Parts: sequence; structure tokens; C-alpha cells
Amino acid sequence: MNELERQLHYPLGDTLPAPGTTLEVAPGIRWVRMALPFALDHINLWLLRDELDGRAGWSVVDCCISRDEAKTQWEQIFSTEFEGLPLLRVIVTHMHPDHIGLAYWLCERWSTPEHPCRLWISATDYNLARVGSAGTNGFGGDSSALFFASHGLTDPASMEKIRERASYYPTLVPAVPRHFRRLMENDVLTIGGRTWRCISGHGHAPEHIAFYCDELKLLIGGDMMLPRISTNVSVFDMEPEANPLQLFLHSIDKFKMLPADTLTLPSHGKPFTGLHRRIEQLHEHHRDRLAEVLQACTEKPCSAADVLPILFKRQLDLHQTTFAMGESIAHLHALWFEGRLQRQRDPHGVYRFSASVAA
Ligand SMILES: [Zn+2]
Repeated sequence: MNELERQLHYPLGDTLPAPGTTLEVAPGIRWVRMALPFALDHINLWLLRDELDGRAGWSVVDCCISRDEAKTQWEQIFSTEFEGLPLLRVIVTHMHPDHIGLAYWLCERWSTPEHPCRLWISATDYNLARVGSAGTNGFGGDSSALFFASHGLTDPASMEKIRERASYYPTLVPAVPRHFRRLMENDVLTIGGRTWRCISGHGHAPEHIAFYCDELKLLIGGDMMLPRISTNVSVFDMEPEANPLQLFLHSIDKFKMLPADTLTLPSHGKPFTGLHRRIEQLHEHHRDRLAEVLQACTEKPCSAADVLPILFKRQLDLHQTTFAMGESIAHLHALWFEGRLQRQRDPHGVYRFSASVAA
């Protein structure tokens, strides 16, 4: 546990649900944990006892990536934890593969002609998932490689691997349900007789939805509120002039309205209390990183690749380098949009950022 984590509280200690089982975290709310084959090696999913259109059953929040191991674990949970009841709906916080990957399979597996098991998600994330899954856009691929090159990533091996990764998203999300139910900021859902409010968040995914239940003082935070790691905030080639860091920092401030003793259920890591402190920590973290980036760009004009070792002190593999480049650009853009940095293309076509001279 690091210094920052010590300022949070984990009411369940180190207890984790075993694979294929669930752990009750509040009345009618069960924690499912599935392995992921990445550096980020697991995801938390939430099962909520529910009733929809007069039928008793379960709702699930998030799905895991599409792969056989996850399907096997789901089947085990259906047979041992569902008490013979059906899955009623699939609620998804956002369009990243670990969250939406198996939505198509779960919805198909549980839909009947009379009772469609529907995907509930924001419209923005639904549409981007459809685009990503159809493989028509480079989440990875040539466009992504060109974009990172324009930000100073020149290492040929990395470039080649990014080009090869054009099918990254469709591999993990081979399909997305053809229909969905739209979630928006401040929508109120009744799940298991309790009221849950939708809280939208930006900067990590286009329109991430978190869910808050005042009766239980429980926040299903998705990837917007993680206890140990800071949420990935990246610029991608599809929106090359995006300013996601500002969006993210603005979004997490919305959680300050929730009670200080809220129990947060994060998508990665363990359920925790200390939400207000965590919001401050994330602000402090990014404030420090931005100060370091600004300092570097004051000394000499820097590309996003130049800034990588300042933001990430550890050795990065390719998967991590891609995320890290996106994050590096996000920090530069936050300062650029604030007017503290200016941007110019050098003779090699690489964007370099330098500190703005006060007028
Ligand atoms: Zn995510």
C-alpha cells in the first residue's frame, strides 16, 4: 500500500471474491472480479438484485472483455449465484473493451422474444463502441501511428506494433448489441427498488456514466474514481486537439457533492471510503505533473515523446507506451489550452510545445 492509499479506507480489507463467485458488498449488491490479460490484470463487475417489468432477476454493471475464460466464469456465476433468476439488463459505464466486451454475448444469452435483455449505456459511448467494433476507425493502426509520430514517437519497432494493432478493439469487442437504452446525466434508475442517479464524466471515455445510490451511500464509480492508480486520460488520433485532462478534472469535482462516507465501488482495485480525499489526491497528482511538464517546456521546446520520461519514471512496454503517449499529449494540451504553452511544428513535422512568453 502506498502513502496515498493509506489515506483511504478499505472496509473489506484484502478480501476479494474468488473467480466464478461473488461477494456481497451491500444488501443486494455483489462484487464479481475477473482476470484481464494486461498490465492492469483484473476488472470489477457488479451484480445487482433487480426487478424489471414485473420480473425478478439481476442487473449487471460492466461485462469484461470477450474471451472464453470470462464466458466460463459468467456461466459459473449464472448457475451458482443467480438463484435460478434471469439477467434482466446489462448496464455499461463506458465503451472500453474490459467494460463492454461481453455485452453482446450477455444480451444475446439472456434475451427472449418477450423480454429483450437490453444494453444500457450513454449514446456517445454506444456509438463509439459500434464504430470501434466495426474496425473502420484506427484505435491503433496507421492513423494512430501517424498521430503518435507527429508527437515525436519515432522508434520503428513501436510504430510497427501500433500499425499492427488496428484490430485491437474488435478483437476484444467483436460485436456490440444492435439496440440500446440511453443513459444520461441525472437520469434516475430504479434498481432493486432503490433509486440510482447517473453521473456523467468525461476525459477518460467520451461519456462515462457512474451510478450513485443515496439510500446505500454507494457509488459505482467505473473508471472515473479509482483508489490506487490514476485514471487514464489520453488524446487519440480521432480527436487530435482534445483537452481530456481538463474535462476529467472538472468531472471528478461532481463527486464532491456526494457524502464524505460514500463507499466507492471502483472498476479496478478494492471498494473504498475517502472519496473526498481521493478527489484531492487526483487534483494534486495532475497539478504536480503539469508543473513538471511546464518546467521541462520552459527549458526547451518539448514533444510529447520528450515528456514521457518526466511523467512515467518506470520502463514501459508497448501497450503502456501507447497509453502513456496519449497521457503525455493530454498534459501538454491542458497547458496549451490554458495559454501557458504554445505549439509549433518543427522541420520534421513534430509538434513541440514551449512556454508562452508573458505579453
Ligand atoms: Zn476505461
